[in-house]
Amino acid sequence: MKPFRVRLSIIMMILIGVSVIVAGYTMGRVFKTTHTTALEQTMVREINLLKATFPFHDATDPTSAETRKYYSDRAGELEKLTDSRVTFINRDGTVIGDSESDPATMDNHLDREEIKGAVGDGYGQSIRFSETLGEDMLYVALPVNSDQSDMVEVPGGEFDGYIRLSMSLAAVDQGLQRGWLIMFVALGLLFLIVALVSYRVARGLTSPIEHITKVAHRITKLEYDARVEVTRRDEIGQLGLAINGMADSLQTQLKTIRDNEALLQSVLANMAGGIVMIDASQSIALVNREAERMLGIQSERVTGKPYIELKKHYELTRTIEESVAVQERMHEEVSIFNPEERLIRIDGVPMTEDDGGYRGMLFLLQDVTAIRRLESMRSEFVANVSHELKTPVAAVKGFAETLLSGGVQDKETERSFLQIIYDEGDRLNRLIGDILELSKIESKRAPLQCSPVHVHSFFEMVLGTLSKVAEKKQIRLQMFVPEELYIEADEDKMKQIFINLLSNGINYTPEGGRVKLQVTVEHGEAEEQVVFAVSDTGIGIPKKDLPRIFERFYRVDKGRSRNSGGTGLGLSIVKHLVELHHGKLSVESELGMGTTFKVILPLIQDEEI
Ligand code: ATP
Ligand code: MG
Repeated sequence: MKPFRVRLSIIMMILIGVSVIVAGYTMGRVFKTTHTTALEQTMVREINLLKATFPFHDATDPTSAETRKYYSDRAGELEKLTDSRVTFINRDGTVIGDSESDPATMDNHLDREEIKGAVGDGYGQSIRFSETLGEDMLYVALPVNSDQSDMVEVPGGEFDGYIRLSMSLAAVDQGLQRGWLIMFVALGLLFLIVALVSYRVARGLTSPIEHITKVAHRITKLEYDARVEVTRRDEIGQLGLAINGMADSLQTQLKTIRDNEALLQSVLANMAGGIVMIDASQSIALVNREAERMLGIQSERVTGKPYIELKKHYELTRTIEESVAVQERMHEEVSIFNPEERLIRIDGVPMTEDDGGYRGMLFLLQDVTAIRRLESMRSEFVANVSHELKTPVAAVKGFAETLLSGGVQDKETERSFLQIIYDEGDRLNRLIGDILELSKIESKRAPLQCSPVHVHSFFEMVLGTLSKVAEKKQIRLQMFVPEELYIEADEDKMKQIFINLLSNGINYTPEGGRVKLQVTVEHGEAEEQVVFAVSDTGIGIPKKDLPRIFERFYRVDKGRSRNSGGTGLGLSIVKHLVELHHGKLSVESELGMGTTFKVILPLIQDEEI
């Protein structure tokens, strides 16, 4: 397909060419006719002049040589004057004189067109190709009768016949040919000009359209910032403005759509719950980031695939299968393994189209492992507390009953029973105190009361209170603390932390052992922090128990702890208090070799945390 502008110029050139040729042809015709008519009139006038002035000779005997000679000689003279062939023809058609050929050789002329026309009073004319001269000739003939009264009195004899003049039309044809030549040259020039002009005009017309088309194509290819350069105010300019307006509106609409989509995406991505959408064809339509994490899958891998792709989570897949089948709201709790077991609550909601048709199921997945664990811990705690309380109460009750029954006579035994009752009462007291303390910390009713603590003197005081117990077990207490170190902390709570850790060290280390406290300052990620290491040379903690010793009431071995009067609450209190100080607590231990607890506290408590 040729471009429009080329087609337009071709069409214009053809139109102009055709009209010039038609005009030329018509003009040629008109020119020729006018010319011939004028010539004809002139010839008629000449014959009329001749009729009036010609000295006719007796022509009653057309065959006489004398007559022929006379008329032929006159014809020859006249030809010189009129520049045309002159023929004298008798009424019966015999040629009696001719300026170009011998009348004796010429045949009867009655059947000639011009003679036929001239019969009577009119005049005849004819154009035809003359064999004699080999060109187009114009013949004009008039009847002549020298006896006619309308004629001027001319001396001479009788002539009754026709005078014919004939002229070559070669001059006319030549003129016409020259005309054609000029016309063709002019036409060629015109063509050239037309081609140029029409090409430019067409280009002026089409190039803005081409520009607009290009812009429209770019918009189709989602380049919404493409705009038409509008330089004119006509219809094409209006079209450009309309396209620009369309692009503007597309751009804003797209931006709105993108913004909405981004909003939706960020809501989905940042949701605490997992979202899995199964469409009406039972394929996975959407999986958000949290669901990816929970199920250990990748959105790009599973989207568009049947939900069976999730088959590694057997219970989940089965639940989806059931709810997709019934298309109703549902709740369910299932376990998944990724890699350790997690308890997931699934809430399924059927999604509907605007017209109420079914679109698929939307599942919200929530990890309820922690909640369930907390719940079970709580009930375990109640059971533990009751058990822990029952044991000392039973002892107190039993010994008191024995004493009351009066069965014990001996003072020594009575005293030892009373001592037991006192010890168990004390234990009960401590237990209740610990439980209250723990619940206070857990419910955040004990805010930090921070002040600068001089670490060295703080530990001198703490070790002082423990020295008696340590001495009793012949355990060496050592401390390595920088002299000038101050830390911002709640001194009371810090005391609770280290009394607990150090007394654990003393309790779980056999006689003759050593408990050491070492304090260092180090640069943490953001701030300076103080590392407190409490290590002993005691019995150690088995690997399997290490993760659990910070749980409430957890004791490695009830027997050994009971001896030392422990309740299993100490470390959980420590853990809570360290966290209250935004610190960290960790433990390393080797069975039979010793244990090291590490407490890391920030040097300065940041108010904002
Ligand atoms: P209390 O509430 O009186 O402190 P407890 O010492 O038994 O009782 P925790 O301090 O919480 O309870 O300690 C939990 C368990 O961890 C202990 O029963 C003990 O078995 C073990 N444990 C703690 N510290 C040490 C240590 N330094 N060496 C060996 N075992 C330890
Ligand atoms: Mg303890």
